[in-house]
Amino acid sequence: MSFSSVTKAEICRTGSGKECCELAELSAVIHTAGSISISGGAFSLRVDTENAAVARRVFALIKNLYGIQAKTQMQTNHLKHNHIYSLSVERETARMVAMDTHILGDEGLEFGTDADFLSSKCCQIAFVRGAFLGGGSITNPEKRYHMEFVCGQKEFATGLLNIIVKLGVPAKIISRGKSHVVYLKEGDAIVTLLTMMGAHSSILSIENIRVLKSVRNNVNRKVNCETGNLSKTVNASVRQQESIEYIRTHMGLEKLSPALREVAEARMSYPEATLDELADVLGAESKSGVNHKLRKLNSIAEHLKTTRGE
Ligand SMILES: [Zn+2]
Repeated sequence: MSFSSVTKAEICRTGSGKECCELAELSAVIHTAGSISISGGAFSLRVDTENAAVARRVFALIKNLYGIQAKTQMQTNHLKHNHIYSLSVERETARMVAMDTHILGDEGLEFGTDADFLSSKCCQIAFVRGAFLGGGSITNPEKRYHMEFVCGQKEFATGLLNIIVKLGVPAKIISRGKSHVVYLKEGDAIVTLLTMMGAHSSILSIENIRVLKSVRNNVNRKVNCETGNLSKTVNASVRQQESIEYIRTHMGLEKLSPALREVAEARMSYPEATLDELADVLGAESKSGVNHKLRKLNSIAEHLKTTRGE
């Protein structure tokens, strides 16, 4: 199951249980996943969803609020390998649901959000839950932080954005084709909204991933730092080997003092060794003593080059 499906299933299991909130949630689900048709004066209202938990939730909301069982249907889309669950109510029930959820007003269909209908905070949160169940998705936070609500109508998207912002959560809006998308990009904002919506296990996994990400960043920083040190060692070693090679060719290593010659031979035998490792190879030598002798070899080579006019 995708992260979205898991989150939706979790949200479907919670809720304030208050009638005002259930109407607000149902309203947003219908706005984002519903359709209303009128044929021959007969009103019908349908919600389509690919998510079985959302379908059960809508069924339960209608049953709680109106005491009736919505007509349910499942269709299998063999091309997409998924199911579409449809719930519908007809005629007077449909009209009543549409009016109670402020989708049908005195002057026809309402595409925006009604401030009076959604004046309490509990209902605003329920409304956001419904919009997420109907048109929302959340990317697996291991990949990136992104949560969005796809809305068909611009008025609805703007209304939803205002509600989310009023709840203290930063969100933005863009148009994508014919849709209007309200989205959240920050980990904190997503966690805050999910907390309000009751998706507690999803938050836990986001928080775990955030901890993992920061550990991973620290490890990467450390590895980069160590790689930096390693390349410094390698660069220094290459220069030392060039110096030693130059001395061997133009002066002869046998002319070096025994201590310098010993260090020169150790460096040529262990080109990738760090100063500590070279000191180990050489027995009693300290790291700084080895470093000093390697520098001495570099300066002897430089001196040879100058005297040879190179
Ligand atoms: Zn409420």
